[in-house]
Amino acid sequence: MSVQPWHQTVWHELVRRQQGSGLPHALLLTGLEGIGKHQLALYVAQWLLCLRDDAEPCGNCHSCQLWMAGTHPDFLLCQPEEGSRQIRIDAIRKVNDFLAQTPQISRCQVVSLRPVEVMNTNAANALLKTLEEPPGESFLLLETERFGSVLPTIRSRCQRLQLSPPGQAEALTWLQQHGFSTEVAEQALRMNHRAPLKALDWLTREQGTQQQRWFELLRQWSLGQIALQTVAEGWNKLELLDVTSWFYSVLSDCLKAKLGASPTQLVFADQVFQLLSCATLNPAKLITLQHKVQAVLGQLLSGGGNYNKQLLLESLLLDWQQIVQDSHRGEYA
Ligand SMILES: [Zn+2]
Repeated sequence: MSVQPWHQTVWHELVRRQQGSGLPHALLLTGLEGIGKHQLALYVAQWLLCLRDDAEPCGNCHSCQLWMAGTHPDFLLCQPEEGSRQIRIDAIRKVNDFLAQTPQISRCQVVSLRPVEVMNTNAANALLKTLEEPPGESFLLLETERFGSVLPTIRSRCQRLQLSPPGQAEALTWLQQHGFSTEVAEQALRMNHRAPLKALDWLTREQGTQQQRWFELLRQWSLGQIALQTVAEGWNKLELLDVTSWFYSVLSDCLKAKLGASPTQLVFADQVFQLLSCATLNPAKLITLQHKVQAVLGQLLSGGGNYNKQLLLESLLLDWQQIVQDSHRGEYA
């Protein structure tokens, strides 16, 4: 975990202040959803707890190791429980009890509380005294997307840290570095209010549904329920690199499954067992097709491969159909 590029300035300012007069005990991080408020809060928490006095968490000390294992005894995350949209007084009592103890490993204790505005009145009241005079050496890192909805009594006891989203170019570069084309990244940012983490999440899920669509076409093709042109056109709408690498993985998985690999050793376990339940696939022919797909993949990855996409996909699909049909004719048992 690290600080997002667009939060570097804020981060360096926090470090400078902590190394100078010290950070205030209650910080309220504000800003839009999906720009990395919580990531920053967690990074600050790890750094405050770190046993070394570096300008970033060292990653090696006992504290950092416990942090990375998710078992740091001096850190508490307070957020609505699953299925609830409120932070209730019980949760705040836990925060108060936690801070009443002394740190076990680090020099301080840290609480991350999010989102602040979902505390009901009782919970907020129970937090006021802690916010005003946190016991011992402790820090409360609060987060909100709706500063206006935070009770004035809470607001007045915290120091606000306004976090901005990155500029368009920076957000684009960041998404490209996660493997998305300019066009795709631009669309994702547009659809997610320019919030890069939200856009990335959306893209990851979108990518997941594309993969499902891709496999569904292959499954129907294997069962002879759909025309070649329909499958090839469906695949043609996807990135060729995605299609070939998914297909390569499915072929490898089919082979592994035939050699007795367990589902946990496969990338597409569920899908491959679906395919194997409708056809007995000849391993030698699978290997031949796998080599063909691998060659295409190699070309694409090295920036070459001037293919006619539709023709290439049709040819791969026909090869696959051949393997499935052979198994139905009983040529391989
Ligand atoms: Zn450390």
